[in-house]
Formats: sequence, C-alpha cells, structure tokens
Amino acid sequence: MKGKNMRNYLTPNFTFAPIVPDRGLGSRIWDVNGNEYIDMAGGIAVNALGHCHPLLIAALTEQAQKLWHVSNIYTTEPAQALAQRLVENSFADQVFFCNSGAEANEAAFKLARKFARDHFGADSGKNEIVACVNGFHGRTLFTVSVGGQPKYSEDFAPLPSGISHVPFNDVTAIQAAVTNRTCAVVIEPVQGESGVLPATKEFIQTARRVCDQHQALLIFDEVQTGMGRTGSLFAHTQYEVVPDIVSSAKALGCGIPIGAMLTTHQVGQSFTPGSHGSTFGGNPLACAVGCAAFDLINSAQTLHHVVKQGEKLQTQLARIGQEFAIFAEVRGMGLLVGCVLAEKFHGRAGELMQLCLQQGLMVLIAGGHVLRMAPSLLLSDEDMDEALQRLQSAIQVFVGA
Ligand SMILES: *Cc1c(COP(=O)(O)O)cnc(C)c1O
Repeated sequence: MKGKNMRNYLTPNFTFAPIVPDRGLGSRIWDVNGNEYIDMAGGIAVNALGHCHPLLIAALTEQAQKLWHVSNIYTTEPAQALAQRLVENSFADQVFFCNSGAEANEAAFKLARKFARDHFGADSGKNEIVACVNGFHGRTLFTVSVGGQPKYSEDFAPLPSGISHVPFNDVTAIQAAVTNRTCAVVIEPVQGESGVLPATKEFIQTARRVCDQHQALLIFDEVQTGMGRTGSLFAHTQYEVVPDIVSSAKALGCGIPIGAMLTTHQVGQSFTPGSHGSTFGGNPLACAVGCAAFDLINSAQTLHHVVKQGEKLQTQLARIGQEFAIFAEVRGMGLLVGCVLAEKFHGRAGELMQLCLQQGLMVLIAGGHVLRMAPSLLLSDEDMDEALQRLQSAIQVFVGA
C-alpha cells in the first residue's frame, strides 16, 4: 500500500493492491495520491451502476435521514418494496434478505435441507447437495464446502457432509449424481470466480430435468450473474429454466451490503417462524438503495446497453487477443467477460492485472489463467475505448517482459 503513512491493521488474509482508492465517479476511480483509474472490476461485479450514481446517493441520503435499522422484529416499507420488485420480476413469490452472497447461499442450502426434511422426513436421508467442481458460493463453512474448490475449504475441516461435486457442464455426470437422496442441485449460470465459464443450455436443462425426476430443488447462485450483469435481470432466464431458489447479492445493493434469497411460496413455507434469521437482513438503508438500483438496472434501456457493450467489449478483446497472441479465448455473457490467457502465459493473470493497474486500469482475475472484467453496466464507449487502450499498453509491457 502506498497511502500516505498508511499501516495495515487488518488480518493478512488479503493481499491488497499497491494503491489505495479514495473516490470514484462513474467508471473512474482516483487513489489517495490523485492518480486516476478506469474501473473495469466494478468492485468484483458489485458497482453495477458505477461509482456515486446520483440517484443512489439520493436514495441513500433520503433514507439516512429517516430510519437506518429496526431489526427483523419489524418489517419496513423499503424491505417490502425491494422484495416486491424482485418477486414481480422473477419466478419467485418470496424473499429472504441478508447481507452477502454467502449468507444468501447459506439460507438457500439450509432451506433446501429443511424443505426435504419437512416433506420426506429426517429418515429419508434426503439431504445431499450436488454442486459443481470449481464452483464458488461464498466463504462460510457451509458455502466453502458446497463450493468446488478444496483450497478454500480443506484448512477448515471437519466440513459439513452430504455434499458432492460434478464437473461443470458434464451432463452425464449430473444425471448420475442426482438421486432420491439429493435435496438440491446448485449451479452458477456462469462460473464467475473460477474463470468466467458459462453453463451450457444442455447442462442447465438437464439439471432441471433430473431435479424434477428426483424431487430435488434447483438453486441458481446468481450472486455474480444477477442484477443485469449478463444482459437480463437474472442470467437463468436466458436458459429458459425455472429454478426453485435463486441467491442474489453483489450488484443488488450496488455497493451497500445486501443479499437476498428468492424462492417460491411452496418452498419458502419451510422457513417457519424462528427457523432462520439475520439481524441486519432487510435493513431499510440497504433496501432503499436496492430499490433505486433495481429500477435503474431493470430497464429495457440499461439491459440493452449491457448486451450491446458486452458484445463490443468481447469483440475488441478478441481483436487485442489476436494482435498480441495473448488470449486463447474471450468468453462470457453481457458485461461479465473473461479473457483466457494463451497457454504460454498460464498462471500469469495476476501479473497482467498488476501491469494493468500501473497503466491506470482496474481489472480482475478468475484463477491463474483468466483476466476478468465486470465493469459498470452503464459503461460508456469513451470509457471502454480508454480502458482498452490502457489494456494494450499493459499487454505490451507484459509480452515484452
Ligand atoms: C461473490 C460470490 C459469492 C459470495 O458473495 P459474498 O458477498 O462475498 O459472500 C457467492 N457466489 C458467487 C457466485 C459469487 O460470485
């Protein structure tokens, strides 16, 4: 960190970048030393409307002067208003609010187990969760265990049991893995953290079919893919499959911590009074911002912009990839884009990310081989062009090095 006399008082589980961001506006960020960056990372797919959007500031400050928190002993108008928006624009009938993606998934997995127990009995053994290799669902003990990356869970053993993993997009494997003991299957429509890998339609539709055959619930983790990121409000609608549970967070609050679990009336009934909870979940401050963000994101204009800019970004990245022989593939959906490094650069995505930062460009990685971008859904042509210029400068240093 190069902040003025800044010392790090935090536990060392994060490797912080060498710059300290200070303020942002739209797709630009300035650090404490006044250097400017184009933000193609979006706070890891959170800042879907860029930084300091005036309508979000208005919603936040208006609510800040009214009511911040009353706990889950009461409901509030902002909580009901955001839940209503989610319900009226999705498969869902009911919403559980929490504060993060991990908590939304934790709620989903707990609900799936309880639903199976309620309907099939504890003796049925119907408690198994089928998830995907390289999946990511958060960092609580249950969610790292359901996640398919042992490096995130193995140090915290003993882990919760009754979880198995199938290779992503492996239709035969998922058919074999789901049985009458399965209570739920969980899938990210696009595997975000592990490489920006979209699911195939066949995989998703097979998952739905085998879940129906074995009376298991289908959960989509849309923490990263939801809220307009892929060009539709939720990515799963593009697969023409109706889930039983969807988790959301990240862009739901556009920077204010909030998570949500969406479900049907039938499944939601298993969350009987007292069976699950959250002190901060549904707090009016987060929900008021969530409502303003929802209305801006869920407009034909914004979603069309995401599709258009996503196509343009992928085309330009593919062109750069060819010019410098650096990317083996550019893939993604909407404005969730991954550039897979050519084989000779494998393992060096982090290095390229650092070089980008030196050129005034914030990007993400997804594993060692993939450069990931999740910019503002409102990304302008001008900011995109400038970002691509800076990326090329970074790549010139990278390939020359
Ligand atoms: C980020 C992410 C999570 C975890 O969200 P947190 O808010 O960090 O708990 C879960 N699932 C997916 C797909 C994610 O991208």
